[in-house]
Amino acid sequence: MVGRDYVSGAMENTTATLHQESAYQNARELTDGIVWESTIAHELFHQWFGDLVTAESWSNLTVNESMADYSQTLWEEYKYGKDAGDAENFQGMQGYLQNPGNATKHLVRFNYADKEDMFDGVSYQKGGRVLHMLRNYVGDDAFLNR
Ligand SMILES: [Zn+2]
Repeated sequence: MVGRDYVSGAMENTTATLHQESAYQNARELTDGIVWESTIAHELFHQWFGDLVTAESWSNLTVNESMADYSQTLWEEYKYGKDAGDAENFQGMQGYLQNPGNATKHLVRFNYADKEDMFDGVSYQKGGRVLHMLRNYVGDDAFLNR
């Protein structure tokens, strides 16, 4: 659902994902594409990783966010083909590389000043790229349980 004056981008509340108002598009706007499609996939994936299966503490936030981040690549690949999935994956990698400080951070961090410090390109994009690396290592049949 879309909420007016919602201050965050989106939140994966169990059974009722909430998106900010800009996620709403009318029929004319939708002819140019679904702007929030990737975020919608991300938040829906949280119904499994984040809501049904969740982390013990903020230190393990990457369990939730890396899975949801990588779901964006899986969705793009499923819906629009391998090139679109690769483009989404590349965009995620660029997001991680954008901040040089990310290179020195571990995926799981037990020492942080504020829980907000965990919501970064490491918990999200690095985790998603690690999952992509694992997928390439074990193969699609094992990774996707086909
Ligand atoms: Zn998320």
